[in-house]
Amino acid sequence: MSFRHRARKRFGQNFLVDGNIIARMIRAIAPEPGQQLVEIGPGLGALTLPLLQAVGRLQAVELDRDLVAELARRCQGAGELVIHQGDALRFDFASLRENEQPLRIVGNLPYNISTPLIFHLLDYADIIADMHFTLQKEVVDRLAARVGDDAYGRLSVMVQYHCRVERLFNIAPGAFRPVPQVDSAFVRLIPHRSKPIEVNDVAVFSRLVAQAFSQRRKTLRNTLKGLLDEEQIRAAGVDPALRPEQVDLAGFAALAGQLPARS
Ligand code: SAM
Repeated sequence: MSFRHRARKRFGQNFLVDGNIIARMIRAIAPEPGQQLVEIGPGLGALTLPLLQAVGRLQAVELDRDLVAELARRCQGAGELVIHQGDALRFDFASLRENEQPLRIVGNLPYNISTPLIFHLLDYADIIADMHFTLQKEVVDRLAARVGDDAYGRLSVMVQYHCRVERLFNIAPGAFRPVPQVDSAFVRLIPHRSKPIEVNDVAVFSRLVAQAFSQRRKTLRNTLKGLLDEEQIRAAGVDPALRPEQVDLAGFAALAGQLPARS
């Protein structure tokens, strides 16, 4: 029986078709039997099948219900595939944990939701061993950006607070069908077992970073208005005349330290 699927733009569907790239990704992930692998957006199984063959059991979260039966059919006999049909953005990833081992998350992510999805996954950093993602190259630039870089922003600060970021390799548009209009890159995020800086209240830190970058061309004195005054910014050891992209992780932690933690 042949299966015809028209790729759905609204689900960010660009399917991997380049066998060399897929093999390179699987080598980078290095799946081992018994590990708790979770794939987000398995689609038609380009990564699912080789992952399943390597680990024997895999859980996947896929939004498009039309793909689920075909995916199960393609993976039949390769191992135990548990497909959760639903929205990864609202998914409780803690519910996937079957033993004490942390989760390994993998996905050629739908580009339209990749940033909110990464923020959602950061909430589960404590139970995640690592994450391997195919993303728009520009998003990987933001993940890996250092203070002062053009791409440095809220995503860089929050992800680097939670994870070590390793950019692995770039992927040309021709590796996908339909061919996307952007370049992609493969990245590894490894949640820190001990955080690089101390933060009293992560929610307060996160709110401060979001507000600081809400108008990235303005100085901290202006963007943080209503949250911190100039004196408090100075008390954190930070110059109020700096723009947010000039402040490193430790600077943001010190600024957050000027705010009361939520009770
Ligand atoms: N992994 C497949 C591959 O590499 O060929 C498909 C990747 S495609 C870029 C993204 C996949 O994520 C699609 O299968 C799409 O249906 C699914 N998807 C889109 N939005 C989703 C969501 N909110 N939650 C879970 N899956 C989603």
